[in-house]
Amino acid sequence: KMPDFNQLSTPQLQQIKVDLFDRYNEIKSRGIALDITRGKPCPEQLDLSIEMLYIINSRNYLTADAVDCRNYGGLDGIPETKELFAQYLEVTPEEIIIGGNSSLNMMHDAFMRAMVKGITEDSPPWGKLPQVKFLCPSPGYDRHFFICDHLDIEMITVNMNDTGPDMDQVEALVADDEGVKGIWCVPRYSNPTGVVYSDEVVERLAAMKTKTNDFRIFWDNAYAVHHLDDKPARLKNILATCKQAGNPERVFIFGSTSKITFAGSGVDMMAGSAENMAMTKKQMAFQTIGPDKLNQLRHVTFFKNVAGIEDHMKKHADILKPKFEAVQNALDKDLAGKNIAEWSRPRGGYFVSIDTMEGCAAAVVQMAAEAGVKLTPAGSTFPYLRDPFDRNIRIAPSFPPLEEIETAIQLVAICIQLVSIEKIMTM
Ligand code: PMP
Repeated sequence: KMPDFNQLSTPQLQQIKVDLFDRYNEIKSRGIALDITRGKPCPEQLDLSIEMLYIINSRNYLTADAVDCRNYGGLDGIPETKELFAQYLEVTPEEIIIGGNSSLNMMHDAFMRAMVKGITEDSPPWGKLPQVKFLCPSPGYDRHFFICDHLDIEMITVNMNDTGPDMDQVEALVADDEGVKGIWCVPRYSNPTGVVYSDEVVERLAAMKTKTNDFRIFWDNAYAVHHLDDKPARLKNILATCKQAGNPERVFIFGSTSKITFAGSGVDMMAGSAENMAMTKKQMAFQTIGPDKLNQLRHVTFFKNVAGIEDHMKKHADILKPKFEAVQNALDKDLAGKNIAEWSRPRGGYFVSIDTMEGCAAAVVQMAAEAGVKLTPAGSTFPYLRDPFDRNIRIAPSFPPLEEIETAIQLVAICIQLVSIEKIMTM
């Protein structure tokens, strides 16, 4: 069993430090340049969808209803793609819009419309209010926070628990402050913690009393089918739950196939009540004549149905699982029992989240960078890039080859130990 570092004497720690520095310098001397900063699919994953590059061709460009996908039209997507992804997000075709290639783009646009025109016909534009605030369960997705920051929306950090955001905090904040207009959620395999929202959290989000009546849950279901386990985690249907609670308009759902087919060349989707979708389409009509229907046709032709998506995701899991296991093995081997770090064991999604001792994350990231391993900047998983405890590190193991992941995580584990020893010795 590994010794708890906090229980060791200074000479013992000194000796461990010397050995760790030897390992650190050995890896550094290899002159590596590894990058585990972003959740990008690796080339083998992209190859799984390569057929998509030739299934749309001079003989195949019409929808089932003989709409010519080469031409303008169809603001909210072609019927068969709407049908497929409505099932995927567990809504009806009237409750979904299939757009372009990036759900982040759709979320950003939803914010912009709210800022300039308001969420409903009769609610004020957020931009006209003295201060709009958003709840940000953290650690969370940095690009969500960047949208808020960019639009001067005040971010309120809410703790992430093992079953989703701390709902006591959320309920208290929304009950009391008219300026709190929404919350960011990545409900199944959250970025970066891998958390899956429990039924109770979904129910409380749907039913809670909000002071303002244009409150919206931004339900970013980016990793809905991105399971690593054979037994996928369940997630309660948020739109159905909102309807049952008498708040059918409360949620905007988002998703994309960026990590199913091609990142950056997938299809994005937004879903919600028929009323919300009607309002959204009305505003979108000023923005575009219609989306890339050829790409939408390409996606339905390739998958055919939801079972087709699920089969395809098993192939992704086969590629990703060994990489996630390599991360766990390296962390277990080097850190378990030492009482200096905790980390997630995600059952899906794209990330592993590590919590070091307080005040260590930035130093670990810096030290890893000096030996050639680039990590997401410390603080990125919190609003304003400020981790209040300087503790969280996000690992994205999907892109690099397995051997590189192994080296990178070994180095991260060495840096965590060195920085922790330094901290313990000065405590
Ligand atoms: N949401 C989350 C939670 C993500 O992790 C990512 C990708 N890193 C995105 C959205 C971006 O999705 P898209 O490619 O559809 O814009």
